[in-house]
Amino acid sequence: MQLIDSYQRKINYLRLSITDRCNLRCRYCMPAKGVPAFKHDEVLRYESLLRIAKVAACLGIKKIRVTGGEPLVRKGVINFLRQLNRIPGVSEVTLTTNGILLQDMAEQLKDAGVKRINMSLDSLQNETYRSITRGGDLQQALAGLEQAEQAGLQIKLNMVVMRGINDQEVEDFAALSVERPWSVRFIEYMPVVREETWRSQVISGAEILSRLRDNFDLEELSRSTLCGPAKPYRIRNTMGTIGIITPMSNHFCGSCNRLRITAGGFAKSCLLSESATDLRPFLRQGDDALRSALLNVATKKSLQHNFMEEVDDCAAFSMARIGG
Ligand code: SAM
Ligand code: SF4
Repeated sequence: MQLIDSYQRKINYLRLSITDRCNLRCRYCMPAKGVPAFKHDEVLRYESLLRIAKVAACLGIKKIRVTGGEPLVRKGVINFLRQLNRIPGVSEVTLTTNGILLQDMAEQLKDAGVKRINMSLDSLQNETYRSITRGGDLQQALAGLEQAEQAGLQIKLNMVVMRGINDQEVEDFAALSVERPWSVRFIEYMPVVREETWRSQVISGAEILSRLRDNFDLEELSRSTLCGPAKPYRIRNTMGTIGIITPMSNHFCGSCNRLRITAGGFAKSCLLSESATDLRPFLRQGDDALRSALLNVATKKSLQHNFMEEVDDCAAFSMARIGG
């Protein structure tokens, strides 16, 4: 079956946030005081997440990304990933992680059937990393990255670029793709937390690209389904690729194929919209009810987000609660 929304977009990608908890406190993701954690029983059990994934797969979902909060902090995540991988119709299960726990878990991920991971890494400088993550240890993240590579996981690095915070490292990050077969992706900062200085920190994908062009011989690659929302490039004759993701300046809503489930059990068809459907009442009923609920969310997906226009009006939120 194929899941097609009312604008003829094929919805085949599910992002499952399995926890709102995290071992970091990135300044672009949550406010300094943190966010009130869901109570234990407010987070969906693995059993319910698996049920949602199975019903979604019957509707046409092919790829599932597990995210959070930090997904690797949730107990039992490896077994959960293994079970997701066994769902008929699901061709790929991937994970987004900050990498802090990868040192011990990379091999287990591989063993559970995960082939590719996205790792968030916003600085290669100890102090900047500590400041962005409010206390994180860069060396731990780098050790995790190394372990992931040794385990044979394919790696995409995600850097959220913020002016005056880490933008001076854009070239260093791009250079990682010269010797490693990694996909290094630059993400426009989305001002969801709304710290006082946010406007001055936003830096557009166009500016990032222009700086990269000034420093490297970039070739533009054709978009494939593997690129996701990233516009792909390569530094000529190198191993890796570079991607630029522009949710703010040039949104990719027209080709968005995603459905999201938050850790608290809400289904969302757009990251940046406030609309969400509580799946709990449907989880108490049979699969048909759950199926209709998911179908309803997917088919009513809005044409595009209006986040930038509404940015001063809508409430700040934490990506950790939704899954990024
Ligand atoms: N903890 C995991 C991690 O950091 O990779 C997974 C969850 S995190 C919320 C998922 C993604 O959202 C990360 O790649 C992160 O960089 C991105 N993200 C969070 N807040 C963001 C923001 N304000 N602007 C752009 N990307 C953001
Ligand atoms: Fe945690 Fe990921 Fe948010 Fe950073 S971006 S605080 S690692 S959930």
